[in-house]
This record gives sequence, C-alpha cells and structure tokens, in this order.
Amino acid sequence: MKDYAIETKCVQCGYSPKNGEPRVLPIYQSTTYKYDTSEAMAKLFDLEPGYMYTRLANPTNDAVAAKITALEGGFAGVLTSSGQAANFFSLINILGAGDHFVSSATIYGGTFNLFNVTMRKIGIDVTFVDPNADEETLNAAFRPNTKAVFGETIANPSLDVLDIEKFARVAHAHGVPLIIDNTFPTPINCRPFEFGADIVTHSTTKYMEGHASTIGGAVIDSGNFDWEQNDKFPGLTTPDESYHGAVYTRDFDKAGYITKIVAQLLRDYGSTPSPQNSFYLNLGLETLALRVERHCKNAQAVAEYLEKNDKISWVNYPGLPNNRYHALAQKYMPNGTCGVISFGVKGGRAAAEKFMNSLKLAAIVTHVADARTCVLHPASSTHRQLSDKELEECGVTPDLIRFSVGIENVNDIIADIEQALAAV
Ligand code: PLP
Repeated sequence: MKDYAIETKCVQCGYSPKNGEPRVLPIYQSTTYKYDTSEAMAKLFDLEPGYMYTRLANPTNDAVAAKITALEGGFAGVLTSSGQAANFFSLINILGAGDHFVSSATIYGGTFNLFNVTMRKIGIDVTFVDPNADEETLNAAFRPNTKAVFGETIANPSLDVLDIEKFARVAHAHGVPLIIDNTFPTPINCRPFEFGADIVTHSTTKYMEGHASTIGGAVIDSGNFDWEQNDKFPGLTTPDESYHGAVYTRDFDKAGYITKIVAQLLRDYGSTPSPQNSFYLNLGLETLALRVERHCKNAQAVAEYLEKNDKISWVNYPGLPNNRYHALAQKYMPNGTCGVISFGVKGGRAAAEKFMNSLKLAAIVTHVADARTCVLHPASSTHRQLSDKELEECGVTPDLIRFSVGIENVNDIIADIEQALAAV
C-alpha cells in the first residue's frame, strides 16, 4: 500500500481480507497452530515461514506490526508486549555483555533506568550525551566496542527535539545504527527513516493505541543498515547455535534483524503481546491520523494560553515560535509535534501541587498521550528514582508539570486550567 497517503494506511494497511473473509482483522486467540504432518511442523523449526506458537508469532500481531511498518515506511517490524520491551530488544538484539552504546540523555525516565541500571548489570555499558552537543563532542563518546546510538524524536518529558540527521551522521561514521524511539510524534508527524534513522521503536501504549487501555510496543527496521560492513554484529552475521547455524543476514537478508528478534528474543524472553491487545491497538491505529491532528491543535492552543498567563513561570512546547527547538521541530515535524506540554507554575513545587490537585477535567495519572487530558509531576513519579544530577541531565526540573492535552473540546481544557490556576 505504498501509494496511499498515511491517513489511508492507518485505516487499511496490515490486513486485506480475501473473498468471504471477515472485514475486520480477526483476533487469532490461539496459542498454537495445527499441522497435518510432523514434517510440516519440523520445517517451522528451520525458520521456514508459518506459525507454530504465539510466543514467537501470531497472525493478529503480525497484521498490526505490518500496519505500523507501513506507517513508518520500514521494511519489517514486530510487536512487543510493552514499549520497554521494544527498546530493550532493539538494543539487546545487537549488543551483548562487554558492548557499549551511546544514548541521548534526554529520554523517558523508564528507559533511562533500563539503560543506566538494568543493562549495566548484564554487562552493557552506556554513555549518555547531551543531544545538543556538537558532532565532535558526540564523536568523543564512541569506543571500539560501541554498537548503537539511541535517542527519542521528542523526549518525554523534556520535549527536546532530536536532530536526527546529526545523530545518524555520527552513528554511521562509526559503523553503527541509529535507533529512534518515535513514540511522541508517531509516524503521522515524523518518519525518522526519512532522515537516516535505521531502527524505530514505539511505546504503542501512547498515541498509537490512544485510549489508555493496552500496553504495547513495536520495533521497526528500515532495512537500510548494512550489518555486514564490519564485524560489530556477530549475532546477525555469524551462525546462531540456537537455530542450528542460521545466519540472520545471510538467510533473511533485509529481514534478518527483525527475524532475530522473533526467533530468538521473543522465543527466549517471551515479551509477546496478546492478540486481543493487538486488536485494540489496531482499532486505535485506524483513527491515529485524526487524533494526532486534534492533539496537536489543542496543545498549541493550550501552550499559547499558558504563555500569556501571569501565574505560569515558563512553558515548553516545540510548537511555540520562541521555543528552543522550534526550528528543529519545523524541519522534522512541519505538521505538528505532539500533544504534550511542560510548564512551571510560579511558586515552585507547592504551587504545582495545588494546581494539579485543583484540576477537575484533567486527571493525575501515570500516563501520557491518550485521548483524555492528563497531568503528572515527573520528578515525584516517573523520574523519582533519578538523582538531582540525573534529573538535570534528563531535562526534568523539580517544578516541571507534564500536561498531556487530550482530544476534548479545547475550551473545556483551558477552562479547567483557568479554574485550577485561580486556586493557586
Ligand atoms: N518510550 C517512551 C518515549 C515512553 O514515553 C514510554 C512510556 O511512557 C516508553 C518508551 C515505555 O513504554 P511502555 O510504558 O509501553 O512500556
């Protein structure tokens, strides 16, 4: 469906029923698949196409992965049970104990923890870099054992916009791929492969599913990175003993990276989504383009309102012309960025708490980027485990309020903010 516009792909891609088949993507709620002969079954264990067990692959999950792959303009993709699993798999697929990667420091707190604590425990080292550093400084972070570079298109919650082309240039100069978490803009607003990224990840839990009812993730491969250009990726370019000698790049060519996630990581770690959740995700994807447009329009209006309000000390939204990232946002996301705004209320932390407790429509929840307006204080919640120095590196100030603008009528959202500010 390459010729259709992205709005059409949201609705139509991934599943095309044949004559007499269900119009809507069926939920293949089955752990396993029946074969007539054990010979036919044996072929699946030689990684021939087909389904054997839903921990590895399932037709509902595959259809939804194919839709997201089409939206991103990628070559192959796979769903995972969460965004955390997607980011972990995107890296562990090509890194092992003794390896190192470079990551933008301004990323989601959960990802920061995964990289900074859990992955270090299994022997994978990371260097966090200031995403605004010049190329020379970024180059200095690389080591002979560096295997990947990671960043978020729009960082959660600092809303820093990543210069994807700069990061791609630096990664490629060192013979490693650039992995981009594209959760906040979604492919509706930005397709990182068009700017040189090699792998894209998602927490589909956010705008993609859009209704805060399922956790999920996705890893999409552009198919553009040459894994055989050096000897950094033996897991892809040399025989896999656990599949009696399969060589992913040789046997699956451009699908090698994703095939390895399916055959090895989903098999061994088991972070597979349920087909039921993938069905919900698909329903969300059908309206993604409409919702993202409304989220961005509402967020722009809320940001402009906040900017003019005396009780607000600062507003951060890349859609505001005076924002530090406005030019980068215009380059990478000319149609809009996301529905998330961050700001500070005059009076610091106490005023922020009073404001949040006085909101009536916007709910305090540990979530972001769904249809309902919601609000969070990251320093005391999602980023609570981080030290003050780490908070600063992540771009999270103690007074930062993260406000996720929903798709309600914007006048109601602004009225809610107004009455809550009056209570401060
Ligand atoms: N990436 C980003 C940018 C996120 O905001 C989140 C969650 O907030 C994640 C990854 C983790 O995703 P999940 O909560 O689906 O595991």
